[in-house]
Amino acid sequence: MRQENINQEIHAYPTAKLSVEHVSKYFDTQGRTVAALEDVSLDINEGEFVCFVGPSGCGKSTLLNIIAGLEEPDKGAALIDGAPIAGPGRDRMMMFQEHALFPWLDVIGNVMFGLKQKPNLNDKERLEVAKYYLYLVKMDNFAHANIHELSGGMRQRVALARSLAPNPKILLMDEPFSALDAMTREQLYGDIQEIWQKRRKTIIFVTHNVREAVCLGTRVILFSPHPGRVREEFAVDLPRPRNINNHDLADLSREITSALKGYAAEETD
Ligand code: ADP
Ligand code: MG
Repeated sequence: MRQENINQEIHAYPTAKLSVEHVSKYFDTQGRTVAALEDVSLDINEGEFVCFVGPSGCGKSTLLNIIAGLEEPDKGAALIDGAPIAGPGRDRMMMFQEHALFPWLDVIGNVMFGLKQKPNLNDKERLEVAKYYLYLVKMDNFAHANIHELSGGMRQRVALARSLAPNPKILLMDEPFSALDAMTREQLYGDIQEIWQKRRKTIIFVTHNVREAVCLGTRVILFSPHPGRVREEFAVDLPRPRNINNHDLADLSREITSALKGYAAEETD
């Protein structure tokens, strides 16, 4: 086994910066046009953990899909390290609310699947790399479990390992914990912070849960709907690891929630 190949996959920390420049995106549904995003611009630095927050329908997923290369903007552009995004790529991995694991593969098989495209690794090396990522998400004791034997939280851990295994520069997470119970979520909040500090990825995390965003992000970007727009952003300087029940965290969350309520009130005026 060529140890240097394995080391390259587990001790390299690729990351990237991202620019969104005047992006608009429209959808035609039932004879009318919905502005999912209107003139959205933002910059995200290498290694930042940025949370997009806003009510349902404000374009968070649409923007994430544009960054993933799954959707194209109608106006403007999204760039990674200065190059326009032209489609999906291995430099960006996406993780969703619903685990998208393969039920016919065991846990380690699912993580190894994410490594299929790595031409520099043979099967044995893929196995070693996959084991490392299972260890990172605290699932190394379940390598040979079947997916249907796992709880929702464990499945999301495996999904996270599978997204991390190809060592992307950017990790895109669309409400990954929103289907989980509060206790499971709290454990994952601690673990994802630890993983981010270890792996130094650029993370973009979408949620409608303000507390969750403040608990995780270095920066929280607020969106409002109709049309989907960026309204405001808050830097979060609280020490890590952060606990969701922390007082300062609750104070900042209240401030952000009242800003979001303000945008909603404008809409109904
Ligand atoms: P969020 O993730 O913030 O809830 P979305 O990005 O999913 O918001 O959606 C923003 C708006 O665009 C919503 O009004 C939604 O109905 C609309 N939309 C999103 N995707 C599509 C699509 N593929 N076809 C039609 N409308 C869409
Ligand atoms: Mg969404």
